[in-house]
Amino acid sequence: MDISQIINELGDDREFYFHAVSPPIMQTSNFPFKKVADLTQAFEDEMQGYLYSRGLNPTVDILRKKLAAMDGAEDCLVFNNGAAAIFAGILANIKSGDHIVSVAKPYTWAQRMFDVVLPRFNVSVTYIDGADIENWKNATNDNTSFYYLESPNSWDFAIQPIKEVADYAKSKGIITLLDNSYCTPLYQKPIEMGIDMAMQTATKYIGGHSDTLGGVLCGTKTMMKKIFDSEYLNIGSGIQPFNAWLLIRGLRTLPARIQRITKTTATVVEYIKQHPKVESILFPLDETFPQYELARKQMSGACGLFTFVLKTRRREDIVTFCESLRHIMMAVSWGGHESLVIPKCAGIPVADFDPDNTEHRFIRMYAGLEEPGYLVNDLEQALANVPE
Ligand SMILES: *Cc1c(COP(=O)(O)O)cnc(C)c1O
Repeated sequence: MDISQIINELGDDREFYFHAVSPPIMQTSNFPFKKVADLTQAFEDEMQGYLYSRGLNPTVDILRKKLAAMDGAEDCLVFNNGAAAIFAGILANIKSGDHIVSVAKPYTWAQRMFDVVLPRFNVSVTYIDGADIENWKNATNDNTSFYYLESPNSWDFAIQPIKEVADYAKSKGIITLLDNSYCTPLYQKPIEMGIDMAMQTATKYIGGHSDTLGGVLCGTKTMMKKIFDSEYLNIGSGIQPFNAWLLIRGLRTLPARIQRITKTTATVVEYIKQHPKVESILFPLDETFPQYELARKQMSGACGLFTFVLKTRRREDIVTFCESLRHIMMAVSWGGHESLVIPKCAGIPVADFDPDNTEHRFIRMYAGLEEPGYLVNDLEQALANVPE
């Protein structure tokens, strides 16, 4: 289906709400019944109709339809945030004694789940460099039931050969989940490449205005029902109607925003690359990116987020740079209207800062919806404060 039809029409059943262009927020907890038999049926399969908003809700359903279609998936569940989507997608598909193979340095809260929560239930994890299919094969053993991918990673943008990993997993009966937050389905379609579950945080590009959180999990109807009947209802981490409404609103302008951000990012990346105080830049669709060829093969675009390293080896210079920015804010997250930076060293104890470890000197930037020249000027004046 055409993306324009998905974002403007699919799921918007306007005849049910007075032909209003914008859908109502069905701010209700429950839905009454006239017949006991109908109630019984709803108890038997809560995914068949509206019973209680911890399960299905009409506003949320509009969003689910659009997001499933964007991913080319049969169905979709929307969670209160991305971390909840990851948690449910994994938990529904593992049991005690299982083994997971994950890319190294996955998103913080996926890693917390692997390192802190799952070991309590006798589930072990092996982290690998996911760039090479051989590493996936070598890490897989008889009790491996799950592969966790994140392509690209949101700090160093490491990517995996998605189709190869998905094909191998299928041959072994292993379930795959890929965090597609960086690309969104506009720039990468994991389900088409054979991945079982495509996950993305809706907090970032879909919301687009830094005013709500959400998390998306797409897959087959069978898989989504399995998760709905257990983890989704049980943890109660489904999205609320108002937040779903904000995400529907965000979706209407997603392609326009992504287009604009892609253009701006190209300008900002070029500016940073040529700056004499900059050592290197990491951006998947830049020729200098180590996995450039693979990125070009499986991603139709990249935007917004990139990482650069200053030539200075002093932590205080990185601090000076970040604190000198007048318009670009220092904050976590990305995907909104506002440009952001975050230095990796903010999360490393000062005494542990090691300039020989390039990662410690990472500065991640997100280019938002401002004019490119406005961002370049801000970077220029902040870089002027960094000693040669
Ligand atoms: C932000 C983020 C998440 C988690 O999403 P939340 O909505 O913040 O819970 C997951 N993966 C990546 C890559 C992210 O950047």
